Amino acid sequence: IRSKAIKLEKMEVVSQLAASISHEIRNPLTVVKGFMQLMKAKDISAETKEQYMNIALEELNRACMIIDDYLTFAKPFPEKIETLHVERELEKVIDMLRPFANMYGVQIVATLMPATMEGNAQYFRQCFLNIIKNGIEATTNGGKVYVDAHADGKTVTIVVRDEGEGMTKEQLARFGEPYFSTKEKGTGLGAMVSIRIIEMMNGTWRIQSEKGRGTTMTVSFSLLEK
Ligand code: ADP
Ligand code: MG
Repeated sequence: IRSKAIKLEKMEVVSQLAASISHEIRNPLTVVKGFMQLMKAKDISAETKEQYMNIALEELNRACMIIDDYLTFAKPFPEKIETLHVERELEKVIDMLRPFANMYGVQIVATLMPATMEGNAQYFRQCFLNIIKNGIEATTNGGKVYVDAHADGKTVTIVVRDEGEGMTKEQLARFGEPYFSTKEKGTGLGAMVSIRIIEMMNGTWRIQSEKGRGTTMTVSFSLLEK
């Protein structure tokens, strides 16, 4: 009964996530719809039209950013549980983020020991995409983001460390809170999504950060028993 309850609880987390995605994307789309309707009016000046257009474009951009935070790896039947090769999955995420890191002049340094665990590849990748992306965004030119994976005993631990701007105590306390963002165009959803995914996969996480010095996110999962 207990394991059944846990399974149900997990399904609930997944459907909650799905519900919040549609909610998050619907908001900017509704704004776009509204401004498109306004633009149809005949007596509208070119200047106003331009303004409406810019708002609509910004909202569409926001919808895209929300999709990036939630659904980069979306596939049908995401609840599939499979054997994950942690090092391969992280390698994929890092490869995918290389152009983004280059844009920021940031180098990703990966040290990945092989390890296998049970989980869902799509969620796993989304989780670390969001974490590593935050590390890159916090780091300025010439900086590095370190991604480390090592297994010991029964757990695999993944450490994402940056030497970027870090967080104040107040910011750290709000890390993972929906909509909390210090970025001009942040969604404030990436960290929340990562945390939910870690918890969904029975993992644990810890974040350490110091303003001006950098941030370290440590995530652990149970290894697949052989
Ligand atoms: P977003 O990236 O859209 O702002 P997130 O939920 O991904 O939203 O992150 C929330 C906030 O947490 C960020 O705006 C930033 O203030 C802080 N944060 C997250 N990761 C880091 C990091 N590695 N270094 C510094 N601040 C971070
Ligand atoms: Mg983010």
